[in-house]
Amino acid sequence: MDQQTTRLSLPSEPRTFGFHVDGRDVPAGEREVFVRHSPAHDVPVTRTVACTPADVDDAVAAARAAFDDRRWAGLGGADRAAVLLRAAALLRERVDEIAYWETLENGKPIAQARGEVSGCVGMFELAAGLARTLHGDTFNNVGDDALSLVMREPVGVVGVVTPWNFPFLILCERVPYILASGNAVVAKPSEFTSATTLILADILRAAGLPAGVFNVVTGTGPTVGQAMLEHRDVDMVSFTGSTRTGRAVVEASARSNFKKLGLELGGKNPQIVFADADLDDAADGVAFGIAFNSGQCCVSGSRLIVERAVADAFARKVADKLARIRTGDPLDEATQAGAITTEAQNRAILDYIEKGKAEGATLAMGGTAMDLGRGRFIAPTVFTDVTPDMTIARDEIFGPVLTILPFDTLDEAVEMANDTEYGLAASVWSKDIDTAMAVSRRVRAGRFWVNTTLAGGPELPIGGFKASGWGREAGMMGVEEYTQVKSVHIAFGPRQHWID
Ligand code: NAD
Repeated sequence: MDQQTTRLSLPSEPRTFGFHVDGRDVPAGEREVFVRHSPAHDVPVTRTVACTPADVDDAVAAARAAFDDRRWAGLGGADRAAVLLRAAALLRERVDEIAYWETLENGKPIAQARGEVSGCVGMFELAAGLARTLHGDTFNNVGDDALSLVMREPVGVVGVVTPWNFPFLILCERVPYILASGNAVVAKPSEFTSATTLILADILRAAGLPAGVFNVVTGTGPTVGQAMLEHRDVDMVSFTGSTRTGRAVVEASARSNFKKLGLELGGKNPQIVFADADLDDAADGVAFGIAFNSGQCCVSGSRLIVERAVADAFARKVADKLARIRTGDPLDEATQAGAITTEAQNRAILDYIEKGKAEGATLAMGGTAMDLGRGRFIAPTVFTDVTPDMTIARDEIFGPVLTILPFDTLDEAVEMANDTEYGLAASVWSKDIDTAMAVSRRVRAGRFWVNTTLAGGPELPIGGFKASGWGREAGMMGVEEYTQVKSVHIAFGPRQHWID
């Protein structure tokens, strides 16, 4: 069949999931159940459990016991690597299934979902290698009667709270690295997109991960997430989500046991385009950077900062690209942009568009919901005549809305790029190596792209400067982030007594 016309069908009835504690799937029982409707098709697709704080207690207790008896932390790195490699192989076999449920709950195009899930296989493989190579340091220069060791130990029980925009990808940018050093995990996916996290629990169990090392509680942030944040037996929380919720995470940590935190928060990421760039490549990159995942991307390039001499011509090129994006049914193989995942997000994007108009920006294209017969879709939207103080130039919109700001000098471009509370990602487009490198050194962001955007691999650490977060995920740094450092000083030979 022609690839362009391939379309998967909807499930005949919603798939029912339990939650996962101590190696077992727990059915809803008397608890409430969430019925998730596909944001692109308006039909029910999954049923997941609204867990209670008592369920969080059970999951944390299972993780605590699994960590404390060293059933996982006590294994050698090679044994942990073997489990992670088996998980990678099982994941590879289930890519289509995971991508299908991701698309149904999230609304992202199926081809994109498949690409994301396939990429997660490599994360497990890389983490397996890192489980074997993780090591500390020694000081053999402290005298003949002593030796100092710097050891890395797993931090303990780690809570992983994830958002709805990349439910499986974000999970896998964390979990394999967290498991590599021997930690135990309690994961709390977004209540809108829990299915694929629960499928991962099944894969890890089948791969031979000991019971209790990976647990999943489903439900809302204020009930289930908050209980986990405040739990005194949780040693660390990895939180990915909005900057607003990030503040609640820090406060809860301070109120409870000062648990260690990893925070991956929002972004308002600049795309800086110089006149000497390949403008066709840059236009494609800028359109991709704002429309990929319908702009619901923490690293979306939402602020186009473009050299004034080419600003108008470049804006036309970007608009031409955006107008040709195939937005539609995410179960269609040819679709490039899918639905807006939640109703609240849909309203927020449309409200920002109204605010942009009210504050005096010019709507150059889009600006409306798209009527595709069912589901929630928003047309790629571009604003010109934007000033840096406008709300649409400052707030993270988390939708396919691009603001265009012209600049005259490199200094001005850098200043505009850094004029934000965030510092997650940035791109520069220029064929001049001096320009590209000068900008890359001066822009304050955790990820930086030169003549590309939204690119890289699992070896590269990810994370933000400023209000975009704390810590780094992925790669060796992503393993080390979930360890504690212990220094051990060993004396040998007779002691020189302090008291005669
Ligand atoms: P959100 O902050 O509303 O929710 C994220 C997660 O936190 C969900 O699982 C939610 O249930 C939970 N949560 C909500 N309130 C909580 C509370 N009081 N205690 C504990 N948990 C709570 O964010 P969202 O709307 O799901 O996701 C969008 C946001 O996530 C955007 O701001 C985006 O930039 C950010 N994000 C950041 C990254 C990154 O890597 N920096 C990646 C993806 C998304």
